[in-house]
Amino acid sequence: MHTFEFVRPADAAAAVAAAARANTAQQGADVRFVAGGTTLLDLMKLNVETPARLIDINRLPLDQIEATPDGGLKIGATVRNADLAYHPVVQRDYALLSQAILSGASAQLRNMATTAGNLLQRTRCVYFRDTAMPCNKREPGTGCPAITGTNRTLAVLGTSEYCIATNPSDMCVAMAALEATIHVQGTQGARAIPFGDFHLLPGSTPHRETVLEPGDLVTHVTLPPPVAGSRQFYLKLRDRASYEFALASAAVVITVAGGNVTRARVALGGVGTKPWRSPEAEAALVGKPANPANFRMAAEAAMRNAKPQSENGFKVELAKRCLAHALTMVSTA
Ligand SMILES: Cc1cc2nc3c(=O)[nH]c(=O)nc-3n(C[C@H](O)[C@H](O)[C@H](O)COP(=O)(O)OP(=O)(O)OC[C@H]3O[C@@H](n4cnc5c(N)ncnc54)[C@H](O)[C@@H]3O)c2cc1C
Ligand code: SF4
Repeated sequence: MHTFEFVRPADAAAAVAAAARANTAQQGADVRFVAGGTTLLDLMKLNVETPARLIDINRLPLDQIEATPDGGLKIGATVRNADLAYHPVVQRDYALLSQAILSGASAQLRNMATTAGNLLQRTRCVYFRDTAMPCNKREPGTGCPAITGTNRTLAVLGTSEYCIATNPSDMCVAMAALEATIHVQGTQGARAIPFGDFHLLPGSTPHRETVLEPGDLVTHVTLPPPVAGSRQFYLKLRDRASYEFALASAAVVITVAGGNVTRARVALGGVGTKPWRSPEAEAALVGKPANPANFRMAAEAAMRNAKPQSENGFKVELAKRCLAHALTMVSTA
């Protein structure tokens, strides 16, 4: 049986120092922070994660949601997903973040899950979660059985010959469209990471999922001030109406003036190996009339580089329709 030590650091500095002893901050880390535990403990029960040391960060003062001086929002790492989704400022100014979180998991899970834990949740690829199977993400160099096997729910954007796993988070898709910044405290001090730079493409090292190094503690996430006159929406398509991961989702923030799109931020979920911001769709939208034909063109642009596998080809059209529909909803609401 797998045994581990459980520690409760007094402050963030002690947490960082304890975690800095880890061999890695990626798959196979022997020291792990634990927040809500809804990803980590799940994977420990499956022996996919076998840390020798768990650092409980739940008592650190990282559970506040506060306004920032520039009019944005600061979200502590241990803020529960439910508290974030129902926060009045989030519901008023960052509605798609609230919609994205509430579309995920279940009420019980959202009461436990935290902001940082959600950023770092792992793929639901069945081979990753089964230690009897090879998997490059879990055990580098063993192969990727998903490419010729069960891949209906896996990614069509950002894949490599080493891994085609989907990033399953809903919250992250909204944060990508909102251009969030992730703040980390590490052994060398604090640093801020633009959302798009935080998660890594699988390439030949799918076990490396983020830029985090041993000791790095996510302390909070900041959102820029809401864009005046913009509208936003999160649409999630899935096999059943609740308690299910996205097959395709779209987070959109657009500004329309005089019938033309003047600003667009677009991110997709359920189809990418990381939360998938689409500069192609954004470029296709800006300066054009806000109408269904142009929304479809933007969706075509977003999925132009899609690489379907044996079972997930349907996702290419599904994601296009999801994005086009989200844009229609947001511009006619
Ligand atoms: C049945 C089920 C259904 C789900 N459905 C959905 C869904 O539809 N959509 C969706 O988006 N999600 C879904 N989820 C995933 C859920 O959102 C995540 O499990 C949750 O957000 C993880 O947060 P946590 O606080 O529990 O993380 P934990 O399990 O505590 O931690 C996860 C990882 O983050 C690391 N970590 C935690 N905090 C920090 C920190 N401050 N700094 C550095 N590292 C840290 C941990 O070491 C660990 O590696 C589902 C989960 C389950 C079990
Ligand atoms: S897709 Fe990635 S996670 Fe799934 S089996 Fe292949 S390497 Fe492992």
